[in-house]
Amino acid sequence: MIIARSVKNVVNIIKKVRGEKKTIGFVPTMGALHHGHLSLVKAAKNDCDFVVVSIFVNPTQFGPKEDYKKYPRTFKKDKELLEKEKVDLVFYPTVKSMYPKSFSTYVEEVFLSKVLCGKSRPGHFRGVCTVVTKLFNIVQPDVAYFGQKDYQQAQIIKRMVVDLNFQIKIKVLPIVRENDGLAASSRNVYLNDTQRKQATILFRALNLAKQLIKQGTKDPNAIIEKMRKLILSQSFAKIDYIKIVDPKTLRDVKEIKKKVVVALAVFIGKTRLIDNIIV
Ligand code: AMP
Repeated sequence: MIIARSVKNVVNIIKKVRGEKKTIGFVPTMGALHHGHLSLVKAAKNDCDFVVVSIFVNPTQFGPKEDYKKYPRTFKKDKELLEKEKVDLVFYPTVKSMYPKSFSTYVEEVFLSKVLCGKSRPGHFRGVCTVVTKLFNIVQPDVAYFGQKDYQQAQIIKRMVVDLNFQIKIKVLPIVRENDGLAASSRNVYLNDTQRKQATILFRALNLAKQLIKQGTKDPNAIIEKMRKLILSQSFAKIDYIKIVDPKTLRDVKEIKKKVVVALAVFIGKTRLIDNIIV
């Protein structure tokens, strides 16, 4: 497994791999890897000849009051996990190499980014689109893998790939969960024992919504109200949003008639967790 820290190094390796007519699979991550990330890596290994994983805590996608500084960084362990998966190349760039002093170009999606997490985290998706564009240009993958855990992010990346004519196939893979239903996340390490137990309320609320929809409830507000009550039964929980949206436009539905995404963001203590379910 090669570990590259400079853009130039990766570009040279990719040139050679392309010359050998190998297909390239790419998994962008911020590290602190868990089995959710590894499900994407396994899919890439299964589909492609050469697999690249990037580990980069991208400063431009964090707000000024967010957790950029304290975001978990566990490169040594990440490296071991990726070695086990037989990843070919790990791109682990420095902030300086991705954003030199003169950096002044950003990529912004302006419709899907306006709602859900985009509303709570202004500038977040601009940072995501910018870094993913840079990574796509550097790694030049045939296929890139994203998790449904970040449903909105995956939709925005798909939109961006179409809008900007990237010749890259985007695969979105299911949410990997812990045994008690909590979605695997690098941020789960922030939770203390009590909070960790209370955090299962996100998945329980999503299941409640699913059950109500399956029973024929058509009014999204009635469902959201029941979810809200259930979540607020947990002392550490503070709701950022609960939304029932159209899977393509991400706009609120007035009546549940076809497939919807139930998406939520909830603070458990100071830790902001997101989850969703497609019903
Ligand atoms: P992150 O390191 O949080 O930026 O995530 C990197 C990629 O892994 C993104 O495409 C995420 O959607 C995906 N991912 C994170 N958590 C999970 C999970 N629990 N299940 C599936 N994919 C995930």
